[in-house]
Amino acid sequence: MAINAEFAVSRIASVNPATGEVLGELDSAGPTEVRAAVARAHAAQLEWDAWGIHNRVKVMRRFQQILLAHKTDIARRITQEAGKPLVEALLTEVLVVLDATRFLIENAFAILREEKLTHGNLAMKTKSGRILREPYGVVGIISPWNYPFSIPATEALAALVAGNAVVLKPSELTPLIALELQALLREAGVPDDIFQVLPGDGETGAALVRSEISKLIFTGSVTTGRRIAQVAAERLLPVVLELGGKDPMIVLEDADIDVASSGAVWGAFMNAGQTCLSVERCYVHQSLYSVFLEACAEKVRKLRVGNGMDPASEIGPMIHERQVRVVETQIEDAKQRGARVLVGGTRLRELGPTFFAPTVLADVDHNMRVMQEETFGPVLPVTPFREETEAVRRANDSDFGLAASIWTRDRARGERLARQINAGTVMVNDAVSCFSISEAPHGGVKASGLGRTHGRWGLEEMVRVKYVDSDRLPRIKKIWWFGYGGGFGGEMESLLDLLYARPLREKLKAAARAAGALWRRKL
Ligand code: NAD
Repeated sequence: MAINAEFAVSRIASVNPATGEVLGELDSAGPTEVRAAVARAHAAQLEWDAWGIHNRVKVMRRFQQILLAHKTDIARRITQEAGKPLVEALLTEVLVVLDATRFLIENAFAILREEKLTHGNLAMKTKSGRILREPYGVVGIISPWNYPFSIPATEALAALVAGNAVVLKPSELTPLIALELQALLREAGVPDDIFQVLPGDGETGAALVRSEISKLIFTGSVTTGRRIAQVAAERLLPVVLELGGKDPMIVLEDADIDVASSGAVWGAFMNAGQTCLSVERCYVHQSLYSVFLEACAEKVRKLRVGNGMDPASEIGPMIHERQVRVVETQIEDAKQRGARVLVGGTRLRELGPTFFAPTVLADVDHNMRVMQEETFGPVLPVTPFREETEAVRRANDSDFGLAASIWTRDRARGERLARQINAGTVMVNDAVSCFSISEAPHGGVKASGLGRTHGRWGLEEMVRVKYVDSDRLPRIKKIWWFGYGGGFGGEMESLLDLLYARPLREKLKAAARAAGALWRRKL
């Protein structure tokens, strides 16, 4: 029997990457369900907007307390579905969302409130202006699996507090935690149609991009981001694209080796290296190179790899076989081109098919795939440099520009070099953790994306700016309206001189001419 494509339902399965256990199976939302969900969201959004920001902030307060009460359950669900150690689920997911909520509770009103626009154009002084920040309507969110709670939640909370409805398409690998987020928001008082989760794979995501959403916040790979940007361009859909990274770490000759090596190991291997802000390539001053490598190797040998539910585990499994193969291919390429594997380099099959040993590669070459392409796995490739300028040049010689880190005892030097790095974020003496500073913008340059999430800038992405201009003298015609003949051009020249001429003498002469003109025109 032929299957009607419109009604064929595909299923997705959520699988625990540590054990292979199927945690749940769900129907994917097809194009019809996507369109219907977006239509429901539009229908409900006007009333949500009318609730006003103070009432929506109250919902945020309730959400924060409900999440706090459920923190352990949520962290366990994240670990089951995405594999990361429980501590990381608490620290990099639950804490990030609690703090993003704190930020919105404290700042959303001040950032989004209507404001008077003062202006300096003397010719327009009869005009009084106001800036309104209005919600887009329905914000579509498409999110990845690596931070399956904190990424969609921080984006959704910002969209919601600004008065938008949200339709979220979570990663097909981690749909259950998105449904937990939906349950928490509903318990906090967000109406059903104002926050909806549509499980499904890329097809569901593609249907969401083609639907009547008003804006899209996408987080994922560069390949998918480019595809989405093409579709969005057709209909001029505004998009924020949070894409991949290849973050460089520069260790200067005055860095504290113990601190920098611990930072490198954590920055490269937390969440099994599957973080957009991971340390993906490390440039170390040649005077420290061998000591630094040895310190990293020694620390990596002590890391405990295992099921994230085990409190002793520091590194969990990778999410998927596909991702493991990317890592293996890059390590193989590096080895063939002369890199040395100091530690790791292989799967830990005794733990499960997607456990991979944290790997330190020495003597890598800047042109190897592991230094050029996003790895997104537990690999720390290290290479020496001689001059600071050379390190900066190599750090910038990348298609990506998400974040970077500089390690030095001299903070002023670190901050000076930070200005020379082409990236959305540069950290001095830390890596990755800027993501948990709710006030700080998150986003990249070059292939790492467009726009920002988090902080004031992320919140401003959720609103359209409207300028309302109101003339204080409604009974008076404007001098710039028609009636151009009769020396009008000369009067305009006088006006320009009056407004912008230097020195004062010229201004005063122009003022006299302009006053004469106004008199002649009887204004
Ligand atoms: P991905 O691009 O494969 O998938 C991301 C999301 O897009 C998923 O929900 C997927 O179902 C959906 N999707 C796939 N094809 C689609 C299409 N044609 N139209 C619409 N949606 C589609 O990425 P991933 O493997 O889930 O995530 C890993 C990537 O995400 C890495 O490159 C990582 O660097 C990046 N990432 C970036 C950030 C950031 O903030 N910059 C944060 C986390 C992850």
